[in-house]
Amino acid sequence: MPPAPIPADEAERIAELRALQILDTPAEERFDVFTRLAARVAAAPIAALSLLDTGRQWLKSRIGIPAAEMPRAVSFCAHAILTPDRPLVVEDATRDPRFADNPLVTGPPGIRFYAGVPVKGPGGHAIGGLCVADTVPRRASPLLVETLADLARGVTDALRLHDTVRRLARLAETDALTGLANAAAFERHQHRLAEDGTAHAVLLLDLDRFAQINDLFGHDGGDAALAEAASRLRAEAGTETMVARLDGNCFGLISPAPDEAARLAQRLHRVFVRPFAIAGQLVRLSVSIGLVRWPADLAEADRVLERADRALARAKRSGRNRTCDAAAEGEHESGAGRHGLARALREALIPPGREPFRLAWQRIVAAETGALAALETLIRWPRPGRGSVAPAEFIPIAEERGLIAHLDRWVLRTAVRQAAGWTAPVRIHVNISPPNLFLADGVGFIESILRESGLAPGRLVIEVTEGVLMRDTRAALHTIATLRALGVGLALDDFGSGHASLGYLRDFPFDIIKLDRGLVARAPACRRSLALLRAVLRLAGELGATTVAEGVETEAQARFMREEGADMLQGFLFGVPGAVPRALRRRTGGRCGALRPPDQLEMATISPRA
Ligand code: C2E
Ligand code: CA
Ligand code: CA
Repeated sequence: MPPAPIPADEAERIAELRALQILDTPAEERFDVFTRLAARVAAAPIAALSLLDTGRQWLKSRIGIPAAEMPRAVSFCAHAILTPDRPLVVEDATRDPRFADNPLVTGPPGIRFYAGVPVKGPGGHAIGGLCVADTVPRRASPLLVETLADLARGVTDALRLHDTVRRLARLAETDALTGLANAAAFERHQHRLAEDGTAHAVLLLDLDRFAQINDLFGHDGGDAALAEAASRLRAEAGTETMVARLDGNCFGLISPAPDEAARLAQRLHRVFVRPFAIAGQLVRLSVSIGLVRWPADLAEADRVLERADRALARAKRSGRNRTCDAAAEGEHESGAGRHGLARALREALIPPGREPFRLAWQRIVAAETGALAALETLIRWPRPGRGSVAPAEFIPIAEERGLIAHLDRWVLRTAVRQAAGWTAPVRIHVNISPPNLFLADGVGFIESILRESGLAPGRLVIEVTEGVLMRDTRAALHTIATLRALGVGLALDDFGSGHASLGYLRDFPFDIIKLDRGLVARAPACRRSLALLRAVLRLAGELGATTVAEGVETEAQARFMREEGADMLQGFLFGVPGAVPRALRRRTGGRCGALRPPDQLEMATISPRA
């Protein structure tokens, strides 16, 4: 029995067949109908839709044949596809040298008669055949051959439909930007594993400080970073692990090897060590990871994702660029995960008018005298039954989800209105996320709030971090000029924490420079930090800017910063963020509701540079 020759287009043919992803799938009525019709018109006991794979023939649909798979060497169809546009008719297999000793002829089912028409895939290559067979010798009428050819064309159409449906289903499960699986596919996969009782590990990853990337490089830059991160994760995770983009800058992995998951997390961190090239610049990114194993870390399969989300939130809280492993934490964790928080935040802000936030105030004091120089307002989000959510946790989410403008406007309006009613003209510091101030009509909003509340513009200081300054220097300078023309002060927050450089201080006319808590803490012991601190203090002095040392917790730190020449100090040593100092609040009760004289409040008179 000579094997059928391999057709010239074998490679393309196989590629087309495999791309259909139809091999080894269950029987489907949409294909069975053709086999049934073929058997009926031929009045034959055997009919099949066969697909010819590299070494085997696999039957998508069959009548009168017990096995779905057989070696390619015994396949009649392997001969039929050699003439893609013509049927193959074998009237008596025992008399045909190609088939006489074929086990399907010499043994069961004992084929004597065969008529098969090649079936083409959507790309035009013959990938199999629609055939009928009988156990007695027969002739094939022209009508039968023609009908088989019509049916084979019908099969091609059905294959095309199969292909389209498959592509659409894939599209519905694919993230358009990265080509990874999307959140729906991710959740489905996790449910399926849990249902099958397959142990697995879920890792949720969040790119740290991603809002800054969008600030600096725009959305195109952000998209490029996400695509690069996706391809690095995909390459590192290996073929067994599902990698998905869940939303924004959040990725999810499902690994079938829970015991290896901690090591996988380590490898994923390392993937980010190499800098990213974004818009021609090298940028460092890091990820925070939440890790949960099922069923080792928790038994309830439907809580795996929620638990991973919470672990991720904890990783973020504990300083980013780290993994929080559910195995290592206690049973009674509290607080919501990032997705839960994002949802709660949106619900809290939309519709506006019933914001559940509060403002806390923290003293900024004169370094020399300890007298009150200003109050910085810090947002608080008390959640019923869940304690307070830290701003470091929800501000980045608000930035990423486009809710920050809403939040900042609420803070600004509320803080300015409160301050306008105080008994002494203490300056207030309000934090604004840069994109709001510089990209939207932030200045117009500030102006209208000041006008409406009657607060003297000189009492307001806007604190920003450096992020947006880098991207659009001209717009930033224009905004700053407008603010200063209004009389509003501008402070550079967190100096020394990230990539802010001395160049900013030179290029942007800040009234106040706030030295980051980390720099303040490191300077006494670290020579490089001390050198930076001294350089900033000197530069600020020369530029006429006021300096605030943040995060002063001990007397020793306060003394050190005073000696180094910081103008103002802020930190737990002088008061934790809390209620407005009593002396500033208007007395509503008591005789005549007289105002408490401001003399009980010692006030510093350091003003921002003119
Ligand atoms: P920030 O503007 O640098 O605020 C100072 C943070 O340091 C506050 O944390 C404050 O509670 C904390 N802090 C003050 N003194 C000390 C100290 O001596 N030691 C230590 N360890 N910490 C101290 P908080 O309130 O959790 O705010 C964190 C960040 O969230 C703020 O950093 C700011 O970037 C942001 N944020 C807070 N409120 C708002 C707001 O209303 N709008 C915007 N856009 N961001 C806000
Ligand atoms: Ca601040
Ligand atoms: Ca700060």
